[in-house]
Amino acid sequence: MLDDLNDLYQQVILEHAKSPRNFREMPGANRVAQGRNPICGDNYTVFLLMDGDVVKDASFQGSGCAISKASASLLTGAIKGKTRAEVETLFGHVHDMVTTGKADESMGKLAAFAGVYKFPARVKCAILSWHAAKAAVEGGAASVSTEGDDPKAE
Ligand code: ZN
Repeated sequence: MLDDLNDLYQQVILEHAKSPRNFREMPGANRVAQGRNPICGDNYTVFLLMDGDVVKDASFQGSGCAISKASASLLTGAIKGKTRAEVETLFGHVHDMVTTGKADESMGKLAAFAGVYKFPARVKCAILSWHAAKAAVEGGAASVSTEGDDPKAE
């Protein structure tokens, strides 16, 4: 059962890496943030169209490994229609999930990334676009890097 579940999750990641959703520039975006993971070479730009506090549209561009690309693909779908506070809450859940492996049903397809906690180097790949999206909704840093994080601060 557990193996079947892992296979299913792996399929979600591979499918999104192959055919990423919302993989486009957004000329009308009013929030843009870049996320870089120099260790793996992942480099993405997250585009948001925000109406007040709400994410009306989300997209991304860039390149990187399968995990980072699939994560950005699922992220853009997951945050559309959410408020800034909801995106911050979801970021917290995803961060917990990829560092502890704990996921519940509310995570939906995002639970595909729960298994990366076993591979510390890949945690950064999975969380990269989330850092960029969080920075974008908060209107803060236009560029975030996984190597700029202080792991002790988390
Ligand atoms: Zn990566």
